[in-house]
Amino acid sequence: MTELLSTDRPGLARAATLLAGGELVAFPTETVYGLGGDARSDRAVARIFEAKGRPRFNPLIVHVADMATARRIAVFDPLAEKIADAFWPGPLTLVLPLRPEAGISPLVTAGLPSVAIRLPEHSVARALLTAFGGPVAAPSANPSGRVSPTRAAHVLAGLEGRIAAVVDGGPCAVGVESTILGLAGAPRLLRPGGIPAEALVACLGHPLAAGGDEARPNAPGQLASHYAPGAPVRVGATEKRPGEVWIGFGKGTEAAELNLSPSGDLVEAAANLFHLLREADRIATGGIAVAPVPDRGLGRAINDRLRRAAAPRPAAG
Ligand code: AMP
Ligand code: MG
Repeated sequence: MTELLSTDRPGLARAATLLAGGELVAFPTETVYGLGGDARSDRAVARIFEAKGRPRFNPLIVHVADMATARRIAVFDPLAEKIADAFWPGPLTLVLPLRPEAGISPLVTAGLPSVAIRLPEHSVARALLTAFGGPVAAPSANPSGRVSPTRAAHVLAGLEGRIAAVVDGGPCAVGVESTILGLAGAPRLLRPGGIPAEALVACLGHPLAAGGDEARPNAPGQLASHYAPGAPVRVGATEKRPGEVWIGFGKGTEAAELNLSPSGDLVEAAANLFHLLREADRIATGGIAVAPVPDRGLGRAINDRLRRAAAPRPAAG
């Protein structure tokens, strides 16, 4: 069911066609094998979370073929340009301000105004990104909670039948994830990885700010204050109360103004989630009520996000 593709022209052309059709393709990078999907497609990105069985919508790294594409997606100030010039292509991810008009799915950024972006060095990764001609969101190609894959066989062992294809480019050279440098604020090391922090410090010319929860939106408990709508959110709402905007899901919610998925499809619901929360917030005069979503598969990540949206807000000011 999962195609094993070679790195020759027809193999990469097939992989690019699958990506363009919203399918998932695992491919080698110099760090580990990535599980790629079109970063502009809500459905493709929702499927990444489904295939991995991720219980949470933590933000994904966007992979690009060249600087021109990177600059269309993120804002590069002179410092970011300098770092990119020194370390790209390579195992370094930069977190930068997102250009909202770039059309990156909000599932990729978890609704944040920043985006993690990387220009990989691996020749197969670059050839695939070039053939596809767009940004590819790609976490490591393993089921959630398992070890990152450094060979096509590892990918198949974990995800066979759950993804469209794997491009077999042999073993990965680096074998650890990319270093993540946050440049959306003061330069901050968000994750150690393939590029040593010392090399970044030498290039920046000053020390890095300490990591820490503020810089790590996927840290437990941290997401509550992120991308919560301004209006209060009520989950598990089987009907609408006066003054509320109701977001439906599945049977019995036909009367809802907005709907995650009238047919009860979890991939569709995940793809719509961030857009509908935003839209509900825009039209709400009272609160936002959200219909129950089954707590299985992608439903777990959806419910995690909804619980955080409904959590008590930190005091303003
Ligand atoms: P993975 O996809 O498993 O390689 O993990 C991606 C990493 O990038 C996670 O640790 C995220 O916290 C981090 N990341 C991605 N996007 C952002 C962002 N916009 N801001 C901060 N960290 C990010
Ligand atoms: Mg991983």
